Amino acid sequence: MTVHHEPAHLTANGHREEPTEAPLVVCEGAGRSFGSGRRAVVAVHDASCHIEAGARIALVGPSGSGKSTLLHLVAGLDSPTTGTVTWPGLGHPGRPTVTDVATVFQSGSLVPSLTVLENVALPLLLADRAISDARGAADAALCMLRIDDLAQALPEELSGGQAQRVAVARAVASGPRLILADEPTGKLDHRAATLVVDVLLEAADAVSAALVVSTHDPEIADRLGARWSMDAGRLRIPLGAEA
Ligand code: ADP
Ligand code: MG
Repeated sequence: MTVHHEPAHLTANGHREEPTEAPLVVCEGAGRSFGSGRRAVVAVHDASCHIEAGARIALVGPSGSGKSTLLHLVAGLDSPTTGTVTWPGLGHPGRPTVTDVATVFQSGSLVPSLTVLENVALPLLLADRAISDARGAADAALCMLRIDDLAQALPEELSGGQAQRVAVARAVASGPRLILADEPTGKLDHRAATLVVDVLLEAADAVSAALVVSTHDPEIADRLGARWSMDAGRLRIPLGAEA
């Protein structure tokens, strides 16, 4: 794993620490509610956690327990209504960019009118990378995941498993520090699901990224390192599973 040297930073009580790798993400009492008054839904309640560089975390919990909402907060795609989410280990202030945090969703996230190669290059183009750069990174990601033969295919020509493999290629093409996969195998049969998890783990290893996978499937959760669970908006991190 690459060791990133961070400048010395001050701890909460003001002591200067030896340079260490700061956590990629810190949630402190982070909550997110939707609506207001009696109709308010508290999707995430008072979540506190650290995600360290290189972590492997499964986020398990029943449907509606707040997994997606928490992942959106961690990705900086949404803002907490209480508490804070910060990214001290990213080396710059502010919200993550595509080269910091990449996401893989359950399915249907490819743009139907673009080829596989164009889909994989798209986030890099949106992040203002030069076209030749974006193309090179997309090619490399497709080769790494052994789907370079699909480069010119359209999403409608892909199986569910292939489409998820392309989504993983798109996530790693930017060389992110953290990959968040929200029920990436939810729509796949067991065999295809196993392959997608293989690919996620392999891709995260290859770019030295931390990986968080939300899932209902205990077998998939067992393949990650730590197991965090959500229940009715509350995040539970077992002792010893702090990542
Ligand atoms: P999970 O991913 O575990 O299925 P979610 O994070 O999607 O759970 O949802 C948690 C709760 O928050 C659910 O009750 C859901 O209905 C509610 N919720 C999520 N997003 C919204 C939204 N945009 N507006 C209103 N309620 C929402
Ligand atoms: Mg969800």
